[in-house]
Amino acid sequence: MSNVLVRTLGSRDVAKDAKDSYLVGLIGSGIGPSLSPALHQGEADRQGLRYLYRLLDIDVLGIAPAEVGRLTRAARDLGFDGLNITHPCKQLVVEHLDALSPQAEALGAVNTVVFEDGRAVGHNTDVTGFAASFARGLPDAPLEHVVQVGAGGAGAAVAHALLTLGAGRITVVDAFAERAEALAAALAGHFGPDRAAAAPHGAESLARLLARADGVVHATPTGMAHHPGLPFPAALLHPGLWVAEVVYRPLRTELLRAAEAAGCATLDGGGMAVFQAVDAFRLFTGREPDAGRMLADFAGLAGTAGARG
Ligand code: NAD
Repeated sequence: MSNVLVRTLGSRDVAKDAKDSYLVGLIGSGIGPSLSPALHQGEADRQGLRYLYRLLDIDVLGIAPAEVGRLTRAARDLGFDGLNITHPCKQLVVEHLDALSPQAEALGAVNTVVFEDGRAVGHNTDVTGFAASFARGLPDAPLEHVVQVGAGGAGAAVAHALLTLGAGRITVVDAFAERAEALAAALAGHFGPDRAAAAPHGAESLARLLARADGVVHATPTGMAHHPGLPFPAALLHPGLWVAEVVYRPLRTELLRAAEAAGCATLDGGGMAVFQAVDAFRLFTGREPDAGRMLADFAGLAGTAGARG
């Protein structure tokens, strides 16, 4: 066994024993089509690791979302090294963990649990994953004022990432005004009162906001196969606006196509999906994954899975 350095819990460096076999899993509902097993196992294969990524689908197992704590403890007791957590358990799992990373604590949501020395430590690699994808894909994007459409789970992670990256202020809109207001209030509490606000949803409000914003992040399910269409009229897009998409099935959504046609710089949702896996792999194993190779894997997998939505 060798020792490698892995960065956890913010800036603290801890030594983690590098093993050569790992057992990890994903807890969530309806996760059959997830690309995570193939992404993780592909990278592990290249690194010569024995790495099993099991799907623990609560629908298949007949387990209620509120029982995620029991399932997490069972996985720890059975020798799992860690878990990814997805809808609808990201918030529910928090109270069952022994410690949280700063991002997970700020968000109150966890998508990665690492079992270390009998403790369950929660992280949020949706936040770090979007930040890495944005820094790579839109490195020179102006960030003075960003509009975000969608205030659900992905929206909360993305807004945290953008404010951490230095966005001046974010205006959040959502079809449910109370969701936009709750997220804006949480962001303002964490990052400062001038840095986040909610605005009414609707074409007129968005037209005013997007005319002056530097960029817009889309974080609703609109554009997925079962939610086709655009989240707002294409006429609101203009070349002075960058457009970041969170949806990644399909990779090229109707919004991205309209944004490209309008001359906007764009970022698809695939980078966030890959970098959250990159960061989770590093947390599980203490080994540095090859993000470039995982991005290439994802492009191949999304090409064949994209039509499934
Ligand atoms: P969610 O249900 O938690 O939140 C979606 C929010 O969008 C809700 O608050 C809803 O009221 C709002 N909304 C829906 N339609 C709207 C519209 N037309 N205008 C304004 N608001 C609208 O969902 P989520 O978990 O946040 O997921 C959103 C999308 O992000 C999904 O497509 C999901 O697949 C994707 N996602 C991508 C990644 C990634 O890694 N790229 C990660 C997580 C989620």
